[in-house]
Amino acid sequence: MRDDTQGYQYRAAFGAWINDMRTEPLPLENWPAPQFDDATLEGIGRALDVQAEAGFNLLDVWGLFATYGWPPDLKSALTDERRRRIHQVLDAAHQRGVGLVLGMGVYSWGYDRIIEADPGVRGKNPDGSPHPHAMCDANPKAFDYVTRILDFVLEQFDFDGVHLESCDLGCCMCPECAGGQGKVAYNVQLNRKTADYLRGRWPDKILYVIPISWIPPLTHFDAEQKASIVELSGHIDCFMDQGHRGTMVAPAERPEFIKNLDCAYGTSGGIWLYPDARWDRTGYFLPYPRRTGAAIREHYDDGARGCMFYQGPMINPGTEINVAVGGLMLRDPHRNVEEALAEALDHYYRPKTDAVRRKLVEIFQLGEEGYFGQWVEQRFLDAHHAPAPGEFMFDCHLFGTCPGPAAYLHEPFLDTAGRVAYGQALQEILRQVDALPPGAADAERLSRIRRSVIVTLMLLNTVAYGKGENQVMGW
Ligand SMILES: [Zn+2]
Repeated sequence: MRDDTQGYQYRAAFGAWINDMRTEPLPLENWPAPQFDDATLEGIGRALDVQAEAGFNLLDVWGLFATYGWPPDLKSALTDERRRRIHQVLDAAHQRGVGLVLGMGVYSWGYDRIIEADPGVRGKNPDGSPHPHAMCDANPKAFDYVTRILDFVLEQFDFDGVHLESCDLGCCMCPECAGGQGKVAYNVQLNRKTADYLRGRWPDKILYVIPISWIPPLTHFDAEQKASIVELSGHIDCFMDQGHRGTMVAPAERPEFIKNLDCAYGTSGGIWLYPDARWDRTGYFLPYPRRTGAAIREHYDDGARGCMFYQGPMINPGTEINVAVGGLMLRDPHRNVEEALAEALDHYYRPKTDAVRRKLVEIFQLGEEGYFGQWVEQRFLDAHHAPAPGEFMFDCHLFGTCPGPAAYLHEPFLDTAGRVAYGQALQEILRQVDALPPGAADAERLSRIRRSVIVTLMLLNTVAYGKGENQVMGW
């Protein structure tokens, strides 16, 4: 694993799931898509190329073994073919100097079939009803299942780290678990004992914890919760306060909080698209290097040294450049973002002249400002009772069995004026791409920009048409 003294220490490309980086869509597959086939491998390999070139030193990926449910015997999760492919991902990462991080559910994510076969470990909802996904820590057998999975995986595969996640699908709310001690203290307890187990057996693995769903949106950790996390910090390498809807540590308190930790603190770079694998993979153009670059610098100045930077299909022109610039900024958070963007564009688009390079920078900035420049914080507070993303998606949630609507072109993301402005920016991008002389830059990548912008304009205009905005849209 490469390690730089300057910049962020834990530069994790966050998959998140194996098929999120896939080049071809899986249009009818619910999230998270479970298959692990040659196309999955191809997408991961392509993403690893960009990640390694940008300077990421970790790839954190979920779903190599299971999604919702490990089989109770564990070993039947691994066909010979799957075993071979996991080794291929490990080899591909290590050949590029990137460490592989195991996405590991702690008491939830991966236990549905175990809970079904052994109902005594099933957790409870606040009303006492059975929890669909989480185990209950009051039953000591629950922790045995966690350690059995870790033994099974780490005795056979050379992962470089483990991402522990205990509450994304909720946690047990019985009086002996989170119902009694509160979600933060309970989740700290689960992660601490899992981390201690890992440290005891594999002291060199990088361990990090993410607090997703530990507290509700619009709230921050209070003093007692922060003290509990400081205690956890002695057992792990990094606490990843990602920031799906703002970070859970209040931004004003971040520098002081980080100083008290015995481990590193990380975020996810301020803003990210979670790309739905059902969608056309080049059907959107959402570069955001200026925004992530600013967040990476700000969080670094507060003391952050870890980042889980979200990935996607590298065939998408916005995704490829977001990841490339994100990696460059993580290595050198104070560099000029526009320069990092120009460097990434140089590398992938091979512009023939300085004028073409400047034009490409302008095209990506137009894509970013044209869309994100229309977001208004108050619209998100009114509609979602949460701050502006953080994490956003095309259709606001990940579930479904066909490609969903382009809700990200609808309120609260864009209002009428926002759609008008974004439509104009997209048309300007097309004019600028088409004005480039033949052979000015990588033709295939330019055609992907064109296609992603044309599809976006069609979707944008369809939303506007459905809302009766024909007049203002100018068609
Ligand atoms: Zn319980």
